[in-house]
Amino acid sequence: MDHFLYRNGILHAEDVPLPEIAAEVGTPFYVYSRATLTRHYTLFDEALDGTDHLICYAMKSNSNQAVLKIMGDLGAGMDVVSGGEYRRARAAGVPGERIVFSGVGKTGEEMRLALEGGIRQFNVESEPELALLSGIAESLGMKAPVTIRVNPDVDARTHEKIATGKAENKFGIPISRARQVYAQAAALPGIEVVGIDVHIGSQLTDLEPFEQAYLKVADLTRTLRADGHDIRRLDLGGGLGIPYERSNTAPPLPMEYGALIRRTVGDLGCEIEIEPGRLISGNAGLLVSGVIYVKSGEDRDFLILDAAMNDLIRPAMYGAWHDIVPVKEPEPGGEPAIYDVVGPVCETGDTFAKSRAIAPLSAGDLVAFRSAGAYGAVMSSEYNTRPLIPEVLVDQHQFAVIRARPGFEEIINRDTIPEWL
Ligand SMILES: *Cc1c(COP(=O)(O)O)cnc(C)c1O
Repeated sequence: MDHFLYRNGILHAEDVPLPEIAAEVGTPFYVYSRATLTRHYTLFDEALDGTDHLICYAMKSNSNQAVLKIMGDLGAGMDVVSGGEYRRARAAGVPGERIVFSGVGKTGEEMRLALEGGIRQFNVESEPELALLSGIAESLGMKAPVTIRVNPDVDARTHEKIATGKAENKFGIPISRARQVYAQAAALPGIEVVGIDVHIGSQLTDLEPFEQAYLKVADLTRTLRADGHDIRRLDLGGGLGIPYERSNTAPPLPMEYGALIRRTVGDLGCEIEIEPGRLISGNAGLLVSGVIYVKSGEDRDFLILDAAMNDLIRPAMYGAWHDIVPVKEPEPGGEPAIYDVVGPVCETGDTFAKSRAIAPLSAGDLVAFRSAGAYGAVMSSEYNTRPLIPEVLVDQHQFAVIRARPGFEEIINRDTIPEWL
């Protein structure tokens, strides 16, 4: 459920009509609903009610400071994957003890930043990373709290670019080598083992792969405890999918996911961490765009929008589907038109949808891409010197720009022409 509904024939974000935002900030723009963000966090929190848990929002899905502040104020922790994200989380007021640090390529500088600033745990992904972390922690007179990310070799049955739990993927250490690596970790002077971490991929629409992975983690917990390790925390990653195509997908609900967690690892007495990103931010955001032209091709009509692949890359990168709806509610029973929906960028890949049935549109009309709150704004670029588009936050009847569109001067002045040129 989200808070983007038609009222009096116009699509609203909570209580604000989208044309009102468009008139103020111009198109294209992203708009997020505070109520939807809050609701999604709360669903996970309720799903784990009664279990000692921390929801570490995967901020790479949407890391705007305002979004982080909403999450942080609700009590969320953060899953960060770079020193930049660590700084962003801290700037939004999230305390270090609620931040977990993931990623296969943490640098020594990033480790030092987090150790000095405060960190809940590092999710370590390799032996060389353990060694480096131990050395740095030792030099600071500290012990770094770690989980080790294991790769359970399960097929997440998702898009190949976002599957992370197969043996062939770069993530984690093979679960078959876990005992050996935990023994190594325990022997390092700058490391304190606190638990196990697993994350098998993103946009999972089926609970079965989670179940396989979590059962393996439960087994490993018992084995490692028998080896003498104090396994007290399980970080179960993120990855629960959302219904991008509402007419035909219904992924499992957080409540069912919570029940699965209890069933698989609930009896181990561990504190549970989860790292949802997409399910919190995805359906909490729309990308709103204006139609520049409707162009008739040889055998099809093109809807040319003012948004492009640089603003929302998911269709070009993953062949991803986004529902695209007119901001003005179509007449019930009206005959749709069929469009290839494209942006102005000079690449054929700049195609959002092919042969898409949408109510007939004309130049100047507004459309909204649903489910654009995750991996949208954060993956955007200024390709074709198209300025990053504004992000807007709605809270009931009020809205605010939470990232402004940069001016062309600002963009151009980022470059420097050497004196000798
Ligand atoms: C990307 C990522 C997540 C979040 O995945 P979602 O599909 O957005 O829930 C969680 N943990 C790690 C380690 C990740 O890399």
